[in-house]
Amino acid sequence: MKKVFTMLICLVLAGSLPGQNMSSILSAGDKARYDGIMSALQRHDYLNAIIELNGFIPGYSTYWDLYYNRGIARAGLNDWIGARRDFILAKGSGCKMENINYLISKQALVSFILKELKQEEKLDSLREFRPVIEPGDIIRGALRPERTCFDVTFYNLTVKIIPETKSIEGSNSICFKTTTDTKIIQIDLFPDYAIKSIKWNDRDLNYTRNEGGIFIDFGETIPAGRDEKITITYSGVPMVARKPPWNGGFVWEKEKNRWDVGIACEHLGASSWWPNKDHLSDKPDSMIINVQVPAGYQGISNGNLASQTAIADGYTNFEWKVSYPINSYNVTFYMGDFVNFNEQFTNSFGSYQMDYYVLPKNLEKAKKYYTQTKEILAIYEKVFGEYPFKKDGVGMVEAPFEGMEHQGAIAIGGEYGKSNNRREYYTKDYDYLIIHELAHEWWGNAVAVPDMADAWINEGFATYSEFLFAEEKFGYPEYIRVAASNFGSVMNIWPIVGERDINSNTFLGNDIYTKGAAMLNNLRCIMNNDTLFKNMIKGFYQKYKYRIVTTSDFTDYVKDYTKADYSDFFDIFLYKTEAPILACSYTIDKGNNLTFTYRWSNTGINFTMPFCIAVSDKEYIRLTGTSFLQTYRYKGAKTFYLVNESRYDKEKVPANSFTYYWTSWPF
Ligand SMILES: [Zn+2]
Repeated sequence: MKKVFTMLICLVLAGSLPGQNMSSILSAGDKARYDGIMSALQRHDYLNAIIELNGFIPGYSTYWDLYYNRGIARAGLNDWIGARRDFILAKGSGCKMENINYLISKQALVSFILKELKQEEKLDSLREFRPVIEPGDIIRGALRPERTCFDVTFYNLTVKIIPETKSIEGSNSICFKTTTDTKIIQIDLFPDYAIKSIKWNDRDLNYTRNEGGIFIDFGETIPAGRDEKITITYSGVPMVARKPPWNGGFVWEKEKNRWDVGIACEHLGASSWWPNKDHLSDKPDSMIINVQVPAGYQGISNGNLASQTAIADGYTNFEWKVSYPINSYNVTFYMGDFVNFNEQFTNSFGSYQMDYYVLPKNLEKAKKYYTQTKEILAIYEKVFGEYPFKKDGVGMVEAPFEGMEHQGAIAIGGEYGKSNNRREYYTKDYDYLIIHELAHEWWGNAVAVPDMADAWINEGFATYSEFLFAEEKFGYPEYIRVAASNFGSVMNIWPIVGERDINSNTFLGNDIYTKGAAMLNNLRCIMNNDTLFKNMIKGFYQKYKYRIVTTSDFTDYVKDYTKADYSDFFDIFLYKTEAPILACSYTIDKGNNLTFTYRWSNTGINFTMPFCIAVSDKEYIRLTGTSFLQTYRYKGAKTFYLVNESRYDKEKVPANSFTYYWTSWPF
């Protein structure tokens, strides 16, 4: 799924500072001093801005601008604890800016995010203001015996799209193998749909419904190891998406009297539109999807088109075959006036087809836009291994919402790179949207997670793939630029590994993307051996493709591969909200001797991580911190700063030194 928020500092501190017009009340001498502070801030010289403000504030202690600006300077150093203190002082001194609340209060920040996503959920103050767990979350998220007793092998889904009434009707035949003796199984479908029948070998089965769960009673015990099939027939009005893809559901667009319809349902759940075992731990080995649309429209879905048949009521049935395991949330359809064009991708093993479905008005634009796809594919095949769904081919479909990684039928919105997409951090020839969504075919679709708690693997690896694309295509300095852009969006609201068994909405707050990718970057910096790191990522992919992977599978894999113990590192980056803090201090004496002391705090005792300092604004030096105090000395230093996402020269950053972390200072 596409990331929703961009730079955190932009989000939190958006807008120009109204201020209290300090300049008008200052004496000439103080005005020059104040202007000096402002220009230090503009130069990103945060350390000196803080030191100067510390001297300035006592004379003007009632002016909130000063605390606010010092907060911004501290935020520029990633001294978020100090920044928060300053923003509280600014608010206490009369600052009325709404944005300040997002930094002071987690509750306010989460409420803001939910408002942006048009989600109405109550927050739980006992769980760090996560959304309250509702009974339906447990029905959806937990693995109980009614679910672990069977393994889905195949779905044959038929869905008829009825635009006039914005409703659907259909059926799903579910083939499964029992893994333990059972009398009852759970299938999921949102409660607003009517179930016409549930059939087992022409026998109608009884069932009860609880929230989104359908508990189906076979009336007898089915022994373990049996292959069975049930068919559920249903109809209803699907939920309309409030902010797709993040707050999902159906999208019913109409332009010039022609429909353009689609669905995005990650986290919301596939059971919002078709009955299935809606738990990430179980994927069918393959699937058929019949999309039925009014004659004259195309019905596009995952996999390959097997047949197109005119059926009753002036409808056309488009039958699609998926030859691989597929996540329920990746199953999709698009109804519209699509035109198709395609090309072949050839690698050393053979070739496969790349299909594009676009609205006719955008055909020329799209043909130009998609010239980048082959290059992106080639880079991912190089760094991860061959495209995982060759038999189904690559597919991209114009969608009435921004991107979503529907397997073999990726949703491409955003008007072919022309939308207000602030995350296009490449040249005009490469769009972040394709780079990100295509990476999901490897990460999220081929390698998949069993619980939303582990969704950082999908988004963290897809986001880190953007870094690797930049590095492969443009070189290491561009890798640094993409990393910096991502670090600046980390929010640190909750740990990136979410709560298990409740269908946790780990997408809220973005960190599964940005902090997940930052964690991978930092791990690479710590390992300080690019060949080892890149082979490890490739090996991890190869081991887990078409399989399910948990967070501990990943950390165990790293441990096995490197024979090193990174448990203190994983503990803070995966399971803690806050980042490691570099506790540091520096002086430059009259003889230009720099003394810099540093150590990692807020971490386990075995935590070790490199970072980068700049001396005299030209020399970038990689240092490795531990939890023990160290001192670094340098002769002939004119200036000093820490290199981070707010202040860096991408050309000068030494290999494996640009890490994400917080800081604290004695001033
Ligand atoms: Zn994504």
